[in-house]
Amino acid sequence: MHRRIAGKLVIATHNPGKLAEMRELLAPYGVQAVSAGELGLGEPEETGDSFRTNAAIKAISAAQAAQLPAFADDSGLVVDALGGAPGILSARWAGPDKDFTAAMTRIERLLQERGATALEQRKAHFVSALCVAWPDDHLEEVEARADGTLVWPPRGTAGFGYDPAFLPDGHTRTFGEMTSVEKHGMPPLGLGLSHRARAFVKLAEICLEPH
Ligand code: IMP
Repeated sequence: MHRRIAGKLVIATHNPGKLAEMRELLAPYGVQAVSAGELGLGEPEETGDSFRTNAAIKAISAAQAAQLPAFADDSGLVVDALGGAPGILSARWAGPDKDFTAAMTRIERLLQERGATALEQRKAHFVSALCVAWPDDHLEEVEARADGTLVWPPRGTAGFGYDPAFLPDGHTRTFGEMTSVEKHGMPPLGLGLSHRARAFVKLAEICLEPH
């Protein structure tokens, strides 16, 4: 049985961008989002071997510490020709300086080394795993992906991370060339394109009721 989210929900992130995005997405459902930062919660080590496990580690840790339901996400870029890399290491490939130009250049160098120049050899997808954990150990988990192709050189200055190198299937502009409403926004305003938007729709279907 799925469980509905009502009242307070801890957003287990220390990333202000993710917190703002979640507050916006949750507002229509009357859910009161409090951040892990506001509650002074620590950040657990992401020791899982999948997006799903890492999202669960973060949500369970926050739910136990706050004794409230807690939401966490984990995401990354999966490149087919690189055996799924950088995957759960997507943030780490950018290093301590969060240098995503360097991370995209590294991916491109590896693709070139493998002779992956044709578009069909440059397939990639973003993954978003979302987890809501309750203090009594109940979990709700969803996962979604956004499929596309890696372009070189990167294009556009919008978004973050690997956005400028990612051309979503069926579109002519990269995520770096789209507004955040186009990329993450829900129809009718946005296209609901991103992995996070798609995963959120799945979560809303099973755990949220419009207010
Ligand atoms: P985490 O989910 O905070 O562990 O971060 C995963 C990493 O994946 C981020 O640092 C980004 O580099 C990358 N990533 C996740 N989602 C996106 C996206 O929508 N656009 C670009 N990069 C992303």
